[in-house]
Amino acid sequence: MRKGQIGWSRGLTKETSPGLMAISRANKGRKPTMEERAKISKSRKGIPPWNKGLTKETNATIARVTAQNTGKTKGTDESVARSAANNKGRVAWTTGLNKETDERIKNISQKLMGHIPWNKGLTKDNNPIVASISTKIKGKKAWNAGLTKETNKSVESMAKITASRNKHNHSGLARRAEKMKAYVGEKSPSWIDGRSFIPYGKQFNCQIKRHIRERDNYICQNCGITEYESKLHFKRNLDVHHINYNKLDTIDNNLISLCSHCNIKANKDREFWERFYTDKIISKSIPIAFVIYG
Ligand SMILES: [Zn+2]
Repeated sequence: MRKGQIGWSRGLTKETSPGLMAISRANKGRKPTMEERAKISKSRKGIPPWNKGLTKETNATIARVTAQNTGKTKGTDESVARSAANNKGRVAWTTGLNKETDERIKNISQKLMGHIPWNKGLTKDNNPIVASISTKIKGKKAWNAGLTKETNKSVESMAKITASRNKHNHSGLARRAEKMKAYVGEKSPSWIDGRSFIPYGKQFNCQIKRHIRERDNYICQNCGITEYESKLHFKRNLDVHHINYNKLDTIDNNLISLCSHCNIKANKDREFWERFYTDKIISKSIPIAFVIYG
C-alpha cells in the first residue's frame, strides 16, 4: 500500500463489513505469521483501537462480549488454557538481553529500581492514558468519601483488617520497643559500669563475624536454628555474641553465633549465659585426640 493511501478496510469491522467477516471466517483459528504480524502492526501505527472510547453501554459488540464473559474466571476459561498452550515453549523477548545491552531493558530496569510509578511525569495533557483515566474519574467520588467506620459497615471492616494487619506485622517489634523503654541507661541489661556505651572493637568486623558463623556451621549455638531460618524468621543473619560481654574482646573463644532471639535472651541472667557459652566453647575447642586418649 502506498503512503497516504487509505486501506479499503479502514474503519470497518467484521460486524459492519461482509468482506471483513469473510476474511475473519477464513482466517479463524489460523495464527498470523511473524511477517504478517509485523506488517499489520506497521500499517496500524497511529490508528486507535476499534474499541477506543466505547463501553458496553454505547457499543453492541462490547456489550455482547461483556455478556459472554460475565461470570467467567481466568482459571476456568478454555481460551486462557489455549493461550497458555500456545505460549508454551515460546521464548520471552527479554531472553538473553540485559540492561547493559538493551536500551528497553535499561529503561524498565531504571523505572523498577527507583520504583517510579508508570505515570510519573505524565499529565492528561501529554499522555492519552492519563487523560482517559482523568476523564473517567472526573466528578466521581471515592466510594468511601464522607463515610467513617462508625457510619459504614465496609469502612468499619476495612479499618479492622488494616488494624489487624498492622498488629500482626508490628506487634513483636512494638512490644519489644515498649519493653526497651523500661531499660534505658542504668536500667539497661547491657549497663555494666557504662560499658554499653563502648563501641564495638575495630577488629569486630564483618570478616570476623563471618569467620565465627562459619566456625559454628551457621547454626545458632543455643537453639540450633540455621542462618537460613534466621533470615526467614528474623530477617537477619545470625548474630555474633560476645560471651564475656566485653565488646572489645574479639578473640575467637569469646565469640559465638546466636540467633537474634537467643542473643536477646543472653542480655539477662548474664552470669548464667556467660558460663553456659564458655563451657560450650571449651567443649567445642577440645581436640578430638584429647577426648579419645585423655
Ligand atoms: Zn537461637
